[in-house]
Amino acid sequence: MLFPLETDYLTWANKYDIRVESGECSKCGNSVITNLPFAFEGYRGLKSEDHGCGEKYTWKTFVPVGEDEKSTWKNIASSM
Ligand SMILES: [Zn+2]
Repeated sequence: MLFPLETDYLTWANKYDIRVESGECSKCGNSVITNLPFAFEGYRGLKSEDHGCGEKYTWKTFVPVGEDEKSTWKNIASSM
């Protein structure tokens, strides 16, 4: 298993209270786990590795880390 970022994903997940998701890719059936930490503007999350099915089939879980992001998050969450 590869950890391209320095941060251990479980430490990252605990720090930001991000749920680690695992399951099967809906396209190829390979097992998928969100174990790559990422930061995107005001969000912190975990994503799965691209195992060959493309970005569309990677999994992502993320949480807002600031007040502005929280209000944006509400909009995102309500549109899902
Ligand atoms: Zn796949």
